[in-house]
Amino acid sequence: MSTIPKTQRAIVVEKTGGPEVLEYRTDHPVPEPKAGEVLVKNTVAGINYIDTYFRTGLYPSPKPEVLGREAVGTIVALGPDTEKFDFKVGDRVIWISNHGYAEYTAVLADKTIKLPDGIPAEDATASFLSGLTVLSLAKETYEVKKGDWVLLHAAAGGAGFLMTQLLKHLGAHVIGTAGGPEKVKLVKELGADHVIDYRSEEGKNWQKIVMDITGGKGVDVVYDSVGKDTWEGSLAVVKKKGMVVWFGNSSGPVPPLPLNLLSPKCVKVARPQLFGYISTREELQAYSDELFGLLLSGTLKVLVHKLYPLESIQEAHVDLESRKTMGKLLIKL
Ligand code: NDP
Repeated sequence: MSTIPKTQRAIVVEKTGGPEVLEYRTDHPVPEPKAGEVLVKNTVAGINYIDTYFRTGLYPSPKPEVLGREAVGTIVALGPDTEKFDFKVGDRVIWISNHGYAEYTAVLADKTIKLPDGIPAEDATASFLSGLTVLSLAKETYEVKKGDWVLLHAAAGGAGFLMTQLLKHLGAHVIGTAGGPEKVKLVKELGADHVIDYRSEEGKNWQKIVMDITGGKGVDVVYDSVGKDTWEGSLAVVKKKGMVVWFGNSSGPVPPLPLNLLSPKCVKVARPQLFGYISTREELQAYSDELFGLLLSGTLKVLVHKLYPLESIQEAHVDLESRKTMGKLLIKL
């Protein structure tokens, strides 16, 4: 059995700011698991756009902070009051919580799930937070039905890559947007019916293109994680009685909007967050089981943009925020 060191490698953010505030440390204390927690030795951690919000302060959080909301690893110690979870030292698990940019994380057993043998660590991390998100968006926020017309922004991204596949699996007609020819090619290969390069000269007019594709009706639902740059267009291309789901701020937040903008078309809007849909253990386990099933059956494929060493975390955040990446960014620990 491996001994647990007193200190570890971790990325610490002392104050909000750009990627330069991500400090690589080699002497960060290894936490003791408290009541209800397990200590996980992480092998692969996920990098998500939300990490940039905590880094910049768009989403306030106490500092100093170790960012990172998910990882795969092995349980190396059990805190008090964890008996009911049926975990043991050596279990291979995946968790969703906080402080994943580190070799060891003390995480609530409640937010930790046993990982089925057939799913490699990289596939699991590349699809966990992102995959649970897209499942909840397509099942609960708006229940996607066969034949629905769906507009999905940033369709080549970590969440978008999985969402495109899920939407096709559910039988929707998918219009994806993506920045640049390489991303467009990828989203087409995933089966999207139409893909618009919204950064190209022609694609800047994506609203007209969407209306033309749908015969002037508009789409049943828009999934918009881009926010500031796209929210108006998303409202413009949703059909009468349709829904716009704003679930991210990649270009900045959607500004407060007058509710009467929704009246002419009786549009519904939603601003969901994953952690609302998986707040209980039962919800987390049920969504995880569904995701694992989709991975094991080959229905959902993952794409890893790059595995970054922990010390290259600044480079990873620069890449993510400069729209250079396709699929998911991971940290190899
Ligand atoms: P992505 O891999 O999708 O990266 C963000 C993408 O957004 C970029 O690649 C880029 O794609 C697009 N983008 C558009 N405008 C900008 C801009 N100005 N700056 C940077 N990127 C831009 O990240 P994730 O998969 O981690 O997350 C996707 C989105 O989903 C994020 O907004 C995130 O906050 C949200 N999210 C929300 C959750 C929730 O619970 N509500 C949970 C998980 C994710 P392109 O070049 O194609 O435009």
